[in-house]
Amino acid sequence: MSHDPIAESVLDLLRDADPDVATIINAEQERQASTIELIASENHVSPAVMHAMGTCLTNKYAEGYPGARYYGGCEHHDRIETLARERAKQLFGARFANVQPHSGAQANMAAFMAAMKPGETFASLVLKDGGHLSHGMKINFSGTFYTPVHYPLHYDESHPDFERIDYEACREVCVEHKPKVILCGYSAYPREIDFARFRAIADEAGALLVADIAHIAGLVAAGVHPSPFPHAHIVTTTTHKTLRGPRGGLVLTNDEELAKKIDRSLFPGVQGGPLMHIIGAKAVAFGEALKPDFKDYAKRVVANAQALANGLIEKGYRITSGGTDNHLMLVDLRARDAELTGADAEKWLEAAGVITNKNGIPDDPRPPRITSGLRLGSPAVTTRGFGADEMRRIAGWIDTVLGSKGEDGATRQVREEVRELCAAFPLPGSAAPARA
Ligand SMILES: *Cc1c(COP(=O)(O)O)cnc(C)c1O
Repeated sequence: MSHDPIAESVLDLLRDADPDVATIINAEQERQASTIELIASENHVSPAVMHAMGTCLTNKYAEGYPGARYYGGCEHHDRIETLARERAKQLFGARFANVQPHSGAQANMAAFMAAMKPGETFASLVLKDGGHLSHGMKINFSGTFYTPVHYPLHYDESHPDFERIDYEACREVCVEHKPKVILCGYSAYPREIDFARFRAIADEAGALLVADIAHIAGLVAAGVHPSPFPHAHIVTTTTHKTLRGPRGGLVLTNDEELAKKIDRSLFPGVQGGPLMHIIGAKAVAFGEALKPDFKDYAKRVVANAQALANGLIEKGYRITSGGTDNHLMLVDLRARDAELTGADAEKWLEAAGVITNKNGIPDDPRPPRITSGLRLGSPAVTTRGFGADEMRRIAGWIDTVLGSKGEDGATRQVREEVRELCAAFPLPGSAAPARA
């Protein structure tokens, strides 16, 4: 049960207005409260962020930018968008911010349109080794309207940088293909990114460096991961992953000419009216991330990921690249049991109340629907207040469920223990934990 009085009154209102919708939202609230969320791209927002989204800001058309709108009545919308921009700039140490992208994919689309003409070439990581679909997947805009070439990881086990970015190979790809853009930043890469090294490659190849920090933005904002500035020409991100804001995107740059192009690319190039209620919530989330507490949160996110990784290594699993520097890890399940697949593991763990996603590991021989790996992340459970002890318990539960191959008795037992732990760590906005 949530003890967030505003969430409760919203549900009460919905129960009267639309009981069908209220029932579904209530069930989802229960699911989130009683399960362990290990999906690396998810988080639990604060009540302030949550409720800023449910405000009158949603009623307004505010096409354009502060001071230059296509509709009347935008006085307060100019103020809220300016505040969100100023906070974003402060948070990431950038001169220009566009807070309007509806999502990370749209942020990337605006960056691409600002940096390239249709058909031009960009370089990104081999997609199945940690890239995002907006980094050149064939049926995505990025692979349809632009020409991706890819750089690899180190796939040779004996190399000291095994399963880390092969910067020398990236350099060779870029010198050969002369891409207009080099894209770094990933969806499933557990190690620090060397932005300075990418910039040196970009300079040599005559490319712009675009850093997509969708996953690590919260860690960057907190100084727990090195900043892409001053190296990247353009930085794109989501606002809802480690940054713990509303679902949305953000584009940053220090270059005034690029900033103008990005603004034009996003609106009217990609989007129509901005989601002003989401921009209001972005301002709130950026304000939270500017507070000292958030640094502590980001440090605990990394410590918790490392505790979970170590717990799993002790149980006989292999963590790709040998560990993690950030909020996520890729677990090679075959080290524990050659038959284990990511698809089975995801399904069995969900039945036990542990929510994960199957994910290919570098050079995975299995297809994407099966995979040899699981991607696990600590942002959501850290928000909930879990520490190293809880992470070690989770490693034990994961091993119990997978070791039993999802057997009913073992799954039920773990489900009960998961429920108990979750009850002791209520979600944000809930009452103080009733710890035994
Ligand atoms: C999540 C993610 C995105 C896009 O996010 P959406 O908001 O889902 O569009 C873009 N790039 C990377 C690297 C991501 O991980």
